[in-house]
Amino acid sequence: MKPFAYTRAENPQAAIQAVIQPNAKFLAGGTNLIDLMKDNVEQPSRLVDINKLAFTRITENEGGLRLGSLAKNSDTANHRLVRERYPLVSQAILAGASAQLRNAATNGGNLMQRTRCYYFYDVAMPCNKRQPGSGCGALEGFSRIHAIFGASLQCIATHPSDLCVALAALDAVVRVEGPQGARTIPFADFHRLPGDTPQIDTNLRTGELITAIDLPAAAAVFAPNSYYLKVRDRQSYAFALVSVAAALDIRNGTIQQARVALGGVAHKPWRAGGAEQVLNGQRVDQALFQRAADAAMQGATGTEHNRFKIELGKRAIVRALTVAANGRTA
Ligand SMILES: Cc1cc2nc3c(=O)[nH]c(=O)nc-3n(C[C@H](O)[C@H](O)[C@H](O)COP(=O)(O)OP(=O)(O)OC[C@H]3O[C@@H](n4cnc5c(N)ncnc54)[C@H](O)[C@@H]3O)c2cc1C
Ligand code: SF4
Repeated sequence: MKPFAYTRAENPQAAIQAVIQPNAKFLAGGTNLIDLMKDNVEQPSRLVDINKLAFTRITENEGGLRLGSLAKNSDTANHRLVRERYPLVSQAILAGASAQLRNAATNGGNLMQRTRCYYFYDVAMPCNKRQPGSGCGALEGFSRIHAIFGASLQCIATHPSDLCVALAALDAVVRVEGPQGARTIPFADFHRLPGDTPQIDTNLRTGELITAIDLPAAAAVFAPNSYYLKVRDRQSYAFALVSVAAALDIRNGTIQQARVALGGVAHKPWRAGGAEQVLNGQRVDQALFQRAADAAMQGATGTEHNRFKIELGKRAIVRALTVAANGRTA
């Protein structure tokens, strides 16, 4: 690991001032960043430790909930109000990593975690995300875990977070503070597609610190009928091949409003708007769920190694919608 300077920030302004120095990075739980540093994938010259900042709480906010960016993933998943009002968030977090990792990992860090593309971690291989202009090892290589939506000729990586798929489905809002002040970012606009600049994962500006994630009051309507389904190569300690966050607002057998988001399929959590359109206003029915799954997968393109995700995705969507429609699971 390359030598680096270490600063512990006492307040948000100090953190922001420290991180705008060249090649500085925030340090939260360290469960992703320190691994990347040990593998020389990331080589920050300064770490700004934000663990003393007061963003650890989960509080009520205008009928919804505000998740502190430094609240631990485990505390968030097990919080009574999160479980009651947004069980999709609890389920998604608990589907990820391990208990030990979730005890250390923070909500802000989870949003900012980097892809698990094998070639990104292997510094002997070309990777436009790690080293812009070097090429993409995955395009010519083994691409089982890679994207079937929104990829570019520069990068076909996927975003690895489970939590983010639930946040995308629930239209969460990310609160940030930076050198130019505070602002909010709708979750759909937080992560980016790779395009020609795959080295940039999010729309955060230089020096911006995530302070909280807001779960809107309106999304609590999905609590009785939501489900997070994660399909992976082994049952624990593995990232999603495909995951589905399904949330339905059902009244008298009719779906008033549906939300479907997918993980493991794109450079960002992928909202399946086509599926939602098929579901909205219709009566709960297996054939309807199949049509929604077909609509969700329209436009998907796979490589010889990951084409299986298209059929797998359809089946996962049907199952997630079926479980969600059947009622509360957490
Ligand atoms: C073996 C293993 C298995 C895993 N499995 C899963 C899984 O199945 N599903 C899943 O979703 N995740 C999984 N993870 C990833 C894990 O959830 C993330 O590593 C964790 O959420 C990152 O949080 P952290 O606080 O440790 O972030 P850190 O490692 O401290 O930071 C990660 C990045 O976020 C930035 N950052 C942190 N906080 C802020 C902030 N407040 N504002 C701006 N930038 C910030 C840092 O600068 C850094 O770039 C796994 C990790 C490991 C090691
Ligand atoms: S898919 Fe993206 S992260 Fe993976 S090797 Fe290609 S450029 Fe790098």
